[in-house]
Amino acid sequence: MSEQYICIGCGVKIQTEHKDELGYAPKSSLEKEDIICQRCFRLKHYNEVQDVSLTDDDFLKILNGLGERDALIVKIVDIFDFNGSWLPGLHRFVGKNPILLIGNKVDLLPHSVKPNKLINWMKQEAKELGLKPIDVLLVSADKGHFIKEATDAIEKYREGKDVYVVGCTNVGKSTFINRILKEVTGEGDVITTSHFPGTTLDIIEIPLADGKSLVDTPGIINHHQMAHYIDKRDLKVITPKKEIKPKIYQLNEAQTLFFGGLARFDYISGGRRSFVCHFSNNIEIHRTKLEKADDLYERHVGEMLTPPRKEQLEDFPPLVKHEFTIKEGKTDIVFSGLGWITVTEPGAKVAVYVPKGVHAMLRKSLI
Ligand code: GDP
Repeated sequence: MSEQYICIGCGVKIQTEHKDELGYAPKSSLEKEDIICQRCFRLKHYNEVQDVSLTDDDFLKILNGLGERDALIVKIVDIFDFNGSWLPGLHRFVGKNPILLIGNKVDLLPHSVKPNKLINWMKQEAKELGLKPIDVLLVSADKGHFIKEATDAIEKYREGKDVYVVGCTNVGKSTFINRILKEVTGEGDVITTSHFPGTTLDIIEIPLADGKSLVDTPGIINHHQMAHYIDKRDLKVITPKKEIKPKIYQLNEAQTLFFGGLARFDYISGGRRSFVCHFSNNIEIHRTKLEKADDLYERHVGEMLTPPRKEQLEDFPPLVKHEFTIKEGKTDIVFSGLGWITVTEPGAKVAVYVPKGVHAMLRKSLI
């Protein structure tokens, strides 16, 4: 493209090569008088927000810009990948602005989990992670659960100010905003331009009734999320779509579980006991003896132990071992972005293997 085109909706530079990136418009649209990027097109015509990808620098600039605004910050996390989708350090960027914490995808957790218990758990985790939200809510953006409550809470806490919605990629931010859009706006031209100081990036503002705006900030990439290490086609294997069915394993010492070829769990010592696995129903779990585990992985990763796919093995990071001793009852062993294993009694010694770069940790049990 020799000539430079600008989107009339948000002012971003138009490009015609990369569909998922900022400023994309199909080549055919360049012949039109008023050129509009695909993201603005969808927002205008379908009242739908579309994801785009950005560099880490852009994200940092956006986060830095938040502190200079007088606004309510709505932070979305994925309740299935709470730690992986957390966005550490957000409190350092937002200045004095209040943060409303919303846990999305509540439909994935077993029905037996009480929302209030989960909210209390989120409050406690938030506190430990250094964040004091003004309130904590649960929603299912996909199923539309608790959207009215979320809209009401946003209206209450924004006290006539703008609202900035932040979250890392894949938490369901677009789905959430599209739901909220349906609640708060009618049809009509919803595009306006917002400009963060120090960036060339224009961000979409959705006008609210009192002249203020709901601002969609681009999804921030958390590089230690499992999703970045697997083939896009396998995302549906690791990302649950329906309520997860916990699988209980009675393990003897020196037994191993493989979660596809993506992660491994060694039960080292602590007597025979049960481990409750909370993973996508599509992930295959294989049990073997600890002494055979190395060999099994080497021979079968990419085949029986999949994902990763065979053709992807060269680029797939090696599994790294993390050892833990469970000191408290009701503890979750978290495989960031993949799921977790709940242990009810203290005293177990375990080892967790996840791809290099992906986090593994212990936390107080969510369920
Ligand atoms: P974004 O990257 O944060 O904007 O996330 P998207 O809105 O594109 O959603 C990411 C993925 O999560 C998609 O596959 C959605 O279908 C899914 N998703 C979004 N909200 C929910 C929800 O409430 N429950 C479930 N189960 N999935 C959801």
